[in-house]
Amino acid sequence: MKTIKILHMYADMLDLYGDSGNMEILNYRCRMRGIECRIDKYSIDSEMPDFSSYDLIYIGGGADLEQQHISADLLKCRDGIVKAYNEGVFLFLICGGYQLMGRYYRDADGNEIPGLGLFDYFTIAPSSRKMRCIGNIVIRTMVTGETVDVVGFENHGGQTQEVKTPFGEVLYGNGNCSKSSAEGYFEKNVIATYLHGPLLSKNPEISDYMISYCINRGVTKSVELSVLDDRLEKDCRKVMLDRLLNK
Ligand code: GLN
Repeated sequence: MKTIKILHMYADMLDLYGDSGNMEILNYRCRMRGIECRIDKYSIDSEMPDFSSYDLIYIGGGADLEQQHISADLLKCRDGIVKAYNEGVFLFLICGGYQLMGRYYRDADGNEIPGLGLFDYFTIAPSSRKMRCIGNIVIRTMVTGETVDVVGFENHGGQTQEVKTPFGEVLYGNGNCSKSSAEGYFEKNVIATYLHGPLLSKNPEISDYMISYCINRGVTKSVELSVLDDRLEKDCRKVMLDRLLNK
């Protein structure tokens, strides 16, 4: 079976609420199935990688300051990331990483951080720093082809607008904007979301969607993932869903 190759960008700067845990989960769920998973890191001053040689590119979330720090470097990577995305490399983006793939992120002070403009959405934070979307969140998504209620945690000032194809429908919490009904951005090879959590430790179906995408990319005979024992993960999630939705 092929090795899944992942590029984790700016792990040293964009890693709010344990976003790096998502990489550990992908690695773990591959290993449990005998699939090899290689995770390379890229950050400011690293040698420019061949983005197209990866199956998945991951960027986590960060505060405004970190987003400003990495902004110029990320723009240098633009052509490589656009090419990779057009060739079908999966983009997995959390919060600050999600915002920077859109047109721009305007922070609470009015500073505009340019995004890569890969997608049409843009994000604006209200001038009052007290107006943030903070707390547990539940969204209902159909990305796997089945209905999955996904739990996570959000903390963002940014209000993301003009999202054409959201990741899910908000059942509890805020989502792309304060009290909005839509959360995140989705395409066949993109999951962009405000959900920290880390997202994948709480929602195994989302991990497997990405692993399945990566393992089947560029192969002629499609591979079915073996089923893992997710009772613990699902029981934990049920506690959160009961607490948040049935009160
Ligand atoms: N700094 C951004 C905001 O507040 C992103 C925060 C995050 O990644 N959690 O909207």
